[in-house]
Amino acid sequence: MQTQWLAGVSLAFVPPSQSSFRYHPDPVATGSAVTSMEACSVCGRTAGLAYEGPIYGRDPDGRVCLNCIRDGSASASLSAAGSRAEFTDVGGPECAGMSPTVLDEVACRTPGFYGWQQEHWLYHCGDGAAFLGRVGWPELQILPDAIESLRQEHAALGWTPELIEEYLRELDKDGSPSAYLFRCRHCGTHLAYSDFD
Ligand SMILES: [Zn+2]
Ligand SMILES: [Zn+2]
Repeated sequence: MQTQWLAGVSLAFVPPSQSSFRYHPDPVATGSAVTSMEACSVCGRTAGLAYEGPIYGRDPDGRVCLNCIRDGSASASLSAAGSRAEFTDVGGPECAGMSPTVLDEVACRTPGFYGWQQEHWLYHCGDGAAFLGRVGWPELQILPDAIESLRQEHAALGWTPELIEEYLRELDKDGSPSAYLFRCRHCGTHLAYSDFD
C-alpha cells in the first residue's frame, strides 16, 4: 500500500486494483464509492475509497472502506440481530437457483448501489452479473439486449407493449424512472431492471 503524507496525516491510499470487485467492477464510476480521508469505522485506517451505498445492518459510526467490504469484515462488524450486514438484497425470485457462495459474495462482500426502491442484483449463466451503473433511454440505445430484458421484465408484470415502450422512453439515468445496467460475466449479455420514485 502506497503511503503519502499530507498536513502530517498518513494517507494510505487504496491502489486502483483494490477498488475493483468482480460483481461491481467500478464502484467509483457508479457512485457507490468516493475518495475519503476519513478513518474507516471498521479497520481504523484512512478509508481512501469509502463506500457510498445502502447498508442493511447496523449503521456504521462513520465511513466504511472498500477493503473492509471486500474481506467481509464490514459485513461482520455491522451485523444486527445476529445477521451479518448486507449491501444489497438477495432474497428475490431473481436469485432462484444461485449458489449460496455467489449470493454471499453479492450481498456481503460487494458494494451495493442506491436505487429508488429496494435494490437487487441480476444474474445470468448461473452467476451474479457485473453491475455497471444507472442508465436511461439515451444510454440504452447501444444496448438492445438490455432493452429486451426491460421489455421482458414488464411483460411479465402484464404491461401492454404500448405502455412498455412509453415507459422505456421515460427512463432517465439521473431521474425517475431509472434503469440499473448489468453485464453477464460469462456470455457478455447486458441485462437491466428499472424502478421509479
Ligand atoms: Zn476499513
Ligand atoms: Zn450469460
